[in-house]
Amino acid sequence: MPKVTIESVLWFSGNNGIVLDAKEVLHWLVNGRMIDLIDAIEMAEKYKSHHLMREADCGQGSGILSSFEEMSFDEFLGVITEYNRHEFQDDLNQKAKYEACKARRSEFAKSRPELVLALLNRGDDFVCAKQGCETTSDIAVDHITPLSRGGTDDLGNLQFLCRYHNSVKSDKIERGDQ
Ligand SMILES: [Zn+2]
Repeated sequence: MPKVTIESVLWFSGNNGIVLDAKEVLHWLVNGRMIDLIDAIEMAEKYKSHHLMREADCGQGSGILSSFEEMSFDEFLGVITEYNRHEFQDDLNQKAKYEACKARRSEFAKSRPELVLALLNRGDDFVCAKQGCETTSDIAVDHITPLSRGGTDDLGNLQFLCRYHNSVKSDKIERGDQ
């Protein structure tokens, strides 16, 4: 489990808290580094309950810090900074994807009446395309490859499904007649 050292004067881990090295503490005090010592303790206090630390110490060896036995404070900061950066990027990507999908949905909602007509013109019956269903009420225009997976409004990607089969299908790629 990771043990993070701040300048050899103390080390900390989520499981064992903060441990001071008596000799080093004395050395720092003699050399008038009282303030530094307090700073180091505050820093250790703040980070010992960091969730990555707890995951590694108390999470049965899970978490990205688990592979470290001992690390310097700089190393520790490097790992959590890198981790936070990834998290932040993931959040941004997730958000962008969500916004794009939302825009596509509203685009589709606007052209829905025309698309229904186009499907009828193509010869589709206004019934659920799911084999054996034949429901004719509450028919939705379904994207065979869902919008959330980059599916388009091309007629080749559209089919009629009843509300029930549309919601059961959810974000799977599936033709009703197969
Ligand atoms: Zn159906």
